[in-house]
Amino acid sequence: MGDEGRGVRSYQTQTTPMKKLSVKEARLEGAIGAAAKIEGWVRTRRDSKAGFSFIEVNDGSCLGNLQVIAPVELADYESEIKHLTAGCSLTVTGEIVASAGGGQATELKADSVLVHGWAEPTTYPLQKKRHSLEKLREWAHLRPRTNAIGAVMRVRHRVSKSIHDFFHEDGFLYTHTPIITASDCEGAGEMFRVTTLDADKPPRDDKGAVDHTQDFFGRPAYLTVSGQLEGELYASALGKVYTFGPTFRAENSNTSRHLAEFWMVEPEVAFFELTDNIDLAERFLKRIVADVLRDCQEDLALFQQHIDKTVMERLEGLHNGSFTRLPYTEAVELLEGSGEPFEYPVQWGTDLQAEHERWLTEKHFAGPVVLTDYPASIKPFYMFVNEPDDQGRRTVRAMDVLVPGVGEIIGGSQREHRLDILEARMAEQGLNPADYWWYADLRRYGTVPHAGFGLGLERMVQYVTGMANIRDVIPFPRTPGSAEF
Ligand code: ATP
Ligand code: MN
Repeated sequence: MGDEGRGVRSYQTQTTPMKKLSVKEARLEGAIGAAAKIEGWVRTRRDSKAGFSFIEVNDGSCLGNLQVIAPVELADYESEIKHLTAGCSLTVTGEIVASAGGGQATELKADSVLVHGWAEPTTYPLQKKRHSLEKLREWAHLRPRTNAIGAVMRVRHRVSKSIHDFFHEDGFLYTHTPIITASDCEGAGEMFRVTTLDADKPPRDDKGAVDHTQDFFGRPAYLTVSGQLEGELYASALGKVYTFGPTFRAENSNTSRHLAEFWMVEPEVAFFELTDNIDLAERFLKRIVADVLRDCQEDLALFQQHIDKTVMERLEGLHNGSFTRLPYTEAVELLEGSGEPFEYPVQWGTDLQAEHERWLTEKHFAGPVVLTDYPASIKPFYMFVNEPDDQGRRTVRAMDVLVPGVGEIIGGSQREHRLDILEARMAEQGLNPADYWWYADLRRYGTVPHAGFGLGLERMVQYVTGMANIRDVIPFPRTPGSAEF
């Protein structure tokens, strides 16, 4: 079928008094009787022998499509409407009427259909058949037009807005911490370098090492792995702050929970201790879930039906229940006594593996769990050091929030605000206190107990959608070996 004569049309200024409605608005019963214009992309077309075509149109405003009834009397019925296929873009005007068929309250009886762009059906990938989420990743530029990814993106938006609302209403200031940094907050060394040096011919010093004094910042610089340290500085003046921005980790692990670029929310509060911090995290997660349960019902129903049969149960459970709080030491005892055949052995002093976290939150407690007071040796220098326990073991006031289906969703701590202990911890971990002079200054001038945490936005979106793979909850995932689009 030739496309000649059906090319992209030039826009004409619309002079009609029609009101533009989103598909979401047009689907509401209250819209019945309105003269309306709707714009979107064709999902399907079906021709009826009774003298009209049904065109399902979606514009991303909601999961449901608007059914457009295009009568054979329309001037371009034979030449255009009968050639519409999935992916074509349209402006349709007409009257919103009560739907005769079931499944929707309203439909649009068209009096004009303008085709903006055709979508060649032999090459357009999103034909009616259902595609796997893996396949859709190859079409990351088109996948937001699918039901599942569209729903995820609406929920991602709702979660993001909830985050800002929660903190704003609680008196927090949204603080923009730098994306380029010279410090490695996690001390894990998994950082992307930022440089303007010529990779083929970097300048070298007399010892043959790359000479970063000639680099853009006059020193090595990286993409941030966390805004925490800077957040602490601002909390120590403004009281309650949060950052919400992109975060980069060059961790070479291809898991369903890790991205090389993800969005992290990091509140930081002055005059705050570990239990305050846990209370904040619990209120925060409950608020996000409450907003999603209230505002994203249609999308949640899709996740429940097609993605994860436990979504609603988990969300309602988190919303209505309270979080179990448990020191690391007790968690280790539970794990040791569990009789589970774990792949990695559990032993006091080692970090918990995903399988251990999942046993705790999914099997044993079957709900959110906050683990606290981890061994000092496995946590970063900035965490507040507890008095040694009765066996002389040293722990820090860390907290990880674990949730069923995802595992760790939040990591946080009360920060070490005592200068001498902080410096000793830095030395222990082979860090040079001179590199952190500004961070140490906070402990010199008006130091206060303070605490904060980091929530990975994508893990939160995984939790509320039930999406098993983190690559399906961010528009353009960056993972090892993959940065197309
Ligand atoms: P994990 O143990 O899962 O690798 P982490 O302990 O390195 O996480 P933190 O440094 O505590 O993570 O970061 C705080 C939060 O940021 C985590 O609880 C998680 O929600 C999120 N997060 C961390 N790393 C990633 C990543 N690579 N991709 C997506 N989210 C992440
Ligand atoms: Mn963590």
